[in-house]
Amino acid sequence: MAQQPLRILVIVAHPDDAEFHCGGLMAIYRELGHTVKIVTVTNGESGHHEQSGPALTARRRAEAAAAAKVIGAAAEVWDFPDGRLQPTLEVRFRIIAEIRSFAPDLVLTHRNNDYHPDHRAVGDAVRDASYMVTVPAIVSDVPVLRKDPVVAFVPDRFTKPYPLQADVVVDVTKQFDKIVEMLACHKSQMFEWLPFNQNELSEVPLGEAGRRHWLHDKYAARQRPQVERYRREITSTYGADLGKKIEWVEVYEISEYAAPLTAELRARLFPFVP
Ligand SMILES: [Zn+2]
Repeated sequence: MAQQPLRILVIVAHPDDAEFHCGGLMAIYRELGHTVKIVTVTNGESGHHEQSGPALTARRRAEAAAAAKVIGAAAEVWDFPDGRLQPTLEVRFRIIAEIRSFAPDLVLTHRNNDYHPDHRAVGDAVRDASYMVTVPAIVSDVPVLRKDPVVAFVPDRFTKPYPLQADVVVDVTKQFDKIVEMLACHKSQMFEWLPFNQNELSEVPLGEAGRRHWLHDKYAARQRPQVERYRREITSTYGADLGKKIEWVEVYEISEYAAPLTAELRARLFPFVP
């Protein structure tokens, strides 16, 4: 690889969020030999209808590790409570320390408009950390960064007050099966809790192969409206001919509270996007 490996830090609320929202982009970075670390801020303790406590959090940590292993990413699950996360100073300072010590080129996180309060809390905490990573008086025991990394918001479907702005459109058609493979590692979620929560537990096939197929179709149905919503941006990024052939994309909005995505940074961080 000609350039130094990039360092990508994914900061999300729950074990499975990274795979759900930016699995394709993480897979691309790993294919290119870049470093990807997934930090999950909450322990996932509220994500089940039958299990709870340390048994569930241990299970979810193991699932997060297995999913990260599919693409060779590092994974860390913190211990803040799932379903009760607030963008407190404690969370903000932990994130500042993490961003400083990992020194990422790019941070991926939730947008501040999202249905889940934990997602919003993580988005808020990262936004609040963005400038502070350069301020020595804050979290003074961890050396500051001389400049902010670029922060990008992972795709979401929410429209109020405005839909996610497609600043970067990433073709993830080739990575789609890899995303499903990562998601399938989160058995407690994909085949138990989420189907229960969505009243479709009886639809989940029993065998491994049937489940994988079912999950593939579920994830495709979830992603399809996203792809159609951004068809115009796909065409303007990839051109009409290629744009028509692109089946799956992930779109990212660049945070205006961190480093701007200059042309030079765009070429360095997203060389696979024309
Ligand atoms: Zn989540």
